[in-house]
Amino acid sequence: MPSLETLTVHGLGRVAEPYRDIVPPIHLASTFERGEDGGYPGGRMYSRDGSPAYIEVEEVLRQLEGGTQALVFASGHAAASAVLQALQAGDRVVAPRAMYWGLRKWLLDLAEHGYIELAFYDNVDLADLDRQLAAAPTRLLWIETPANPTWEVTDLRAAIALAQKHGAHTLVDSTVATPVLSQPLALGADIVLHSATKYLNGHSDVVAGALITREDSALWQRVRSMRNLGGAVLGPFEAWLLLRGMRTLHLRVRAACANALQLAGALEQHPAVAQVLYPGLPSHPGHAIAAAQMSGGFGGMLSIRVRAGEDAAREVAARVRVFKRATSLGSVESLIEHRASVEGPTSRCPPDLLRLSVGIEPVADLLEDLQQALGV
Ligand code: PLP
Repeated sequence: MPSLETLTVHGLGRVAEPYRDIVPPIHLASTFERGEDGGYPGGRMYSRDGSPAYIEVEEVLRQLEGGTQALVFASGHAAASAVLQALQAGDRVVAPRAMYWGLRKWLLDLAEHGYIELAFYDNVDLADLDRQLAAAPTRLLWIETPANPTWEVTDLRAAIALAQKHGAHTLVDSTVATPVLSQPLALGADIVLHSATKYLNGHSDVVAGALITREDSALWQRVRSMRNLGGAVLGPFEAWLLLRGMRTLHLRVRAACANALQLAGALEQHPAVAQVLYPGLPSHPGHAIAAAQMSGGFGGMLSIRVRAGEDAAREVAARVRVFKRATSLGSVESLIEHRASVEGPTSRCPPDLLRLSVGIEPVADLLEDLQQALGV
């Protein structure tokens, strides 16, 4: 039986008839012919329900995460929205204090407008999580690990066990960990979420999202219908590009992890850097948990806090020549951003923090660039 890595490299490996193409054709049809009996002999009715363009990419994602079903969406936000729309009005969601800012803002907005009840927990404090889950009946526990932009590590096994004790479903945003490094469904999580815009696609040229479920539960059935009814479907070409990007997922993630670990170690020694936040460093408070629940690396994301403060951090970002100043993460090219100014006035991010998405360039180029930008 070939490994999951081979399956991913082959993009499932189906050969398309009649030409025996070794990459799948792009199915553009929005609608499908009915038979004379009124049935759907091709098994498809309308592509908002589920386009044949998703078959390979969803199957590879399903297998990579070890789930029973996968769905692709028009963005990571659309995937998250489908889960939130699948809840009952007023359902309680417990979310981490540190998490991707855009989704935190979305949760706060939904709570403010009465769609959900919302409580936050400290990403690394399981006693606090237990208290928040116990405070009122909770439908959904949201986990992101490592968590943007400070890379706190949540103990997945323990947090999922607490959710199960309190009767809550668990969603894990595994965008940063990727299925190469972490398999939350095997630890009992109900749904894994990815911004497929990031590592899964890996080339900064597609916006996409994905959900993978452990079981075909009632919640999942509603999520599935929310993609159709909410209508945030991925275009066929984007689905094709995502599958193409995923063929190098393992190589890219391994290279980014190795680069990030080397940069983190070197930056920790740099006099202009007050702190390096990277779960791969033994000095990181979540290192032991990350080592236990991630295999093959600690991810390509790290942050540095610039000793001389916010203005100096912005100046460092202004001086880079190899890193690109841009938001987002998980692509082949390295990105740097002054996160607090991207997030705006509601940001919880320290103002002296620079977030680095480490790409797959030769690490010497990246290190030299950061050293000249930091000033030796
Ligand atoms: N989750 C994480 C961890 C992210 O970093 C992002 C985007 O930055 C998202 C979800 C949202 O994904 P998208 O931008 O594809 O909607």
